[in-house]
Amino acid sequence: AKRLNKNNYRTYGSSIQQTLEDRMKLELSLRQAMSKNELSLFFQPQYAVEDMELVGAEVLLRWNHPERGMVPPDVFIPIAEERGLIGEIGTWVLDEACRQWKEWQTSGIALDQIAVNVSARQFAHGNIPQIVDELLQRYDMPASALELELTESCLIEAPQEMFNTLSELRARGIAIAMDDFGTGYSSLSTIATMPVDTLKIDRSFITNLTIGSPNEKIVTAILMLANSLEMQVVAEGVEQKGELDFLRSKQCHIAQGYYMARPLCVQGMTALLRERAET
Ligand code: C2E
Ligand code: CA
Ligand code: CA
Ligand code: CA
Repeated sequence: AKRLNKNNYRTYGSSIQQTLEDRMKLELSLRQAMSKNELSLFFQPQYAVEDMELVGAEVLLRWNHPERGMVPPDVFIPIAEERGLIGEIGTWVLDEACRQWKEWQTSGIALDQIAVNVSARQFAHGNIPQIVDELLQRYDMPASALELELTESCLIEAPQEMFNTLSELRARGIAIAMDDFGTGYSSLSTIATMPVDTLKIDRSFITNLTIGSPNEKIVTAILMLANSLEMQVVAEGVEQKGELDFLRSKQCHIAQGYYMARPLCVQGMTALLRERAET
């Protein structure tokens, strides 16, 4: 560090400055994004591995910024969490997802289930059960049509209170999924007592998954574990036929990923649902 010359130091310093300014600008425009209709939902289809029936979709938030174009959720969700905007945004996502489900249902092309990502902060601060109750009532939607995804790391750190809330939601028929499973260092005993219905195997374990591959044993073990705990398994990030074939040979229940379908805009998802209804 001693040897850093003036120029290097300056470059380094100004790039930090840049990042801070960038984040502040993003935060400001994020505050306006909702009223300016810049947020929208995409839907990634989920398929039953056995027969490739469309069984649901994961709801993915998109921000179309007027100057920057599409800002990925990995960038703006953390800012929203830090700056206390996640409650408002998360509620909007839940509302819009349920509203859309109802629209499809009214058209006779409803999905069995939609899965909505809920962040740890959103869950901790918000009155999720109340919000969800209200939405299910407003859109006359069965609880079983809604799944909430929480990451494994957020669940491991969860206080008892959160477990109670999750159990409450499950008791009403709402499904709870553990997202990014395999990346959060859960102990076996915690997994067994987690109030969850579904394990979503993280994409990193699915990549290049074939017989004899390094991930084969891990995925096989996760599937066996989930089976004995009577949990459903969703494999995410399936990009190749070989990965899907492997998952089928191991009786994995559900898969999603670019190999089957990329996340679709509302029009794209509606077209897919229409096509399914017609055949
Ligand atoms: P995630 O929950 O793990 O969501 C899956 C991400 O993987 C999505 O990225 C999706 O587009 C991408 N993906 C799906 N299939 C494939 C594939 O086959 N290959 C590859 N390489 N990627 C695939 P996206 O939409 O950029 O979302 C990133 C993360 O942002 C999500 O990760 C989720 O944690 C968060 N997120 C998205 N929407 C919301 C939201 O409404 N609320 C909250 N709290 N978080 C959200
Ligand atoms: Ca599901
Ligand atoms: Ca997810
Ligand atoms: Ca994930």
